[in-house]
Amino acid sequence: MITGTTQLLGVIGYPVQHSLSPVMHNAAIAHIGANYVYLPFQVHPDDLERAIAGFAAIGLMGFNITIPHKQSIMPFLSEMSSTAQAIGAVNTVWRTPQGWAGTNTDVEGFLAPLSHRTNWSQAIAIVLGNGGAARAVVAGCASLGCAEICVVGRNRDKLNAFRASWADSPAINLSVYPWDALPTLLSNCTLLVNTTPLGMHPRIDESPVSPSDLERLPPEAIAYDLIYTPNPTLFLQRAKMRNLMAIDGLEMLVQQGAAALRIWLEQPVPVDIMRQSLKEQLR
Ligand code: NAP
Repeated sequence: MITGTTQLLGVIGYPVQHSLSPVMHNAAIAHIGANYVYLPFQVHPDDLERAIAGFAAIGLMGFNITIPHKQSIMPFLSEMSSTAQAIGAVNTVWRTPQGWAGTNTDVEGFLAPLSHRTNWSQAIAIVLGNGGAARAVVAGCASLGCAEICVVGRNRDKLNAFRASWADSPAINLSVYPWDALPTLLSNCTLLVNTTPLGMHPRIDESPVSPSDLERLPPEAIAYDLIYTPNPTLFLQRAKMRNLMAIDGLEMLVQQGAAALRIWLEQPVPVDIMRQSLKEQLR
């Protein structure tokens, strides 16, 4: 029940109507019985500064950030986690006495389904795509301690810019490749992550990896697709047919949300309820 003491949380984006976050967060809030409500806020890029000032004025406790504000929010924060700085994007903000603080929970979300394996020191990760989500995946693979991270993309200039953006992180062994190099890379791959929209609804009959290329993966390789609808994607269907471990994007979505809610509420959150609410919404 919303009362005079209910605290506000939310998500800003432009557009924001597609966001699944209100469903997931409000389901968790209701389950815990916390006196919060989580709302969608459509904020035009030109209005970002005014919106943030307005949020401070009305005492919003925190908010998520989706496209196109993940980078442009950064100048308005008084504090930023090292993860958000490394990725160059913020997806979670909370109020502090000094102003807004921000982090990026996508890395935590990405890593959650990989916790079964502890030793990544010999692992070779291949990341397909070099957009925003690929940055969180690279940061995640680096935090696992992967021996090598290979980023595959279709635009040479963007690939070089991507590599250059990690120059301040010498501990990360990152190389970039064009798509036609993929077949030769796959035979040593430990973790293959799709961060492109290939296979996403409505282009569900596409896959970033051909069946013959998938055959090149070692039997212990993990196939990970950040896409959560359809579930599984064609890429993961084929990986399962090869008996590879297949991880879909739903868990990352759930876990990045759970990590944000833990920051705001400062208590454990019902991850199962969040997962279930998302599955029902996607159905
Ligand atoms: P983005 O910034 O637009 O990046 C997309 C990347 O895919 C770019 O490198 C792009 O290449 C590449 N790409 C697009 N179409 C391609 C094609 N036909 N062939 C080859 N490469 C192609 O998007 P994003 O924010 O990183 O999101 C990427 C995907 O991850 C989406 O499907 C999104 O739903 C998913 N995602 C899931 C989660 C989760 O929680 N599960 C979180 C974030 C994102 P160019 O740069 O050359 O255009």
